[in-house]
Amino acid sequence: MRRTRPAALVLALAATLALTACGQDSEGGGKATPKGGKGSTIGIAMPTKSSERWIADGNNMAQQFRALGYKTDLQYGEDSVDQQVAQVENMITKGVDALVIAAIDGRALGDVLKQAADQHIKVISYDRLILGSPNVDYYASFDNEKVGVLQATYIVDKLGLKNGKQGPFNIELFAGSPDDNNTRYFFQGALKTLQPYIDKKQLVVRSGQTRLNQVTTLRWDGATAQKRMDDLLTKAYSTEHVDAVLSPYDGISIGILSALRSGGYGTSAKPYPVVTGQDAEVASVKSIIAGDQSQTVYKDTRALAKQAVQMADAVLTGKTPQVNDTKTYDNEKKVVPAFLLDPVSVDKSNYQATLVDSGYIKASDLK
Ligand code: BGC
Repeated sequence: MRRTRPAALVLALAATLALTACGQDSEGGGKATPKGGKGSTIGIAMPTKSSERWIADGNNMAQQFRALGYKTDLQYGEDSVDQQVAQVENMITKGVDALVIAAIDGRALGDVLKQAADQHIKVISYDRLILGSPNVDYYASFDNEKVGVLQATYIVDKLGLKNGKQGPFNIELFAGSPDDNNTRYFFQGALKTLQPYIDKKQLVVRSGQTRLNQVTTLRWDGATAQKRMDDLLTKAYSTEHVDAVLSPYDGISIGILSALRSGGYGTSAKPYPVVTGQDAEVASVKSIIAGDQSQTVYKDTRALAKQAVQMADAVLTGKTPQVNDTKTYDNEKKVVPAFLLDPVSVDKSNYQATLVDSGYIKASDLK
């Protein structure tokens, strides 16, 4: 519903009075009751179409919102921070009633979210936490630290480290975009799992690059990761074999595997290292089936969309959204109440049951 401001204010006031009359609390600690109700418009700002998952996230949400009677305005920022800020600003100007945002740069939205708050537009941070702004109402995501734990545990298991294999095995570490809050959670989870084996020298990082700021990949870009892997092979592996690569995302894994292929890996004399991933993207699942990439982390975007839709629907109809975490996600201005879903580790042994039988990926897409 596109409304003029005065009409919106009258409606908001009426809604506040109605809620007060029913004895219900309005959300937001003293702020006015949010706009909307069924039939409202939801602005959905997604980061990029260059990765399948965000296309699925956007479509799933738009579909689920429409099924509940909402209108949607779905925009992709194409990994340009300025473009995303302009898109959100435009949604506010056009009078959306709630915003669901997966930020490109978690810190770039403060000013625009202030404008949203001034218009009583509720904001749901989608998958990636928006940082440094008090105007983030709810957060829907996965247990992000567990994603890193699953990736690292896969490496530990495959190399037999827990069972006492001494190696030493060579590993290199990759992390996601430095401006994405998830990056540090993924990396923390992975490193706390790997550190005991690095300390015992069962794992060796020959490049010496183990700090987060040495291993990030701006905008999660596969080509950037490929270039870094090329450099690592040249500098640290002219005579040594890489046994494992911690990769945080399937698009990065594909870049890493290309560099490895150029470096002569992928033969029986020089097999690929264990390479992890995330998102269960079709190209990577095919790579797993072919025996190139080893693992990915499946995060059901249908379920995540459902949580975000549930949150927005609740705030727009005067209810309290369901959350299951009120401690973990401090965005530096507040701890944002969150609903966190469970990620699942996938490899060749369980992709069929997890991804295909659940209908997440069609068997024909993997041919
Ligand atoms: C998401 C991951 C995704 C990455 C790159 C992160 O914020 O949580 O699922 O792989 O962005 O798009």
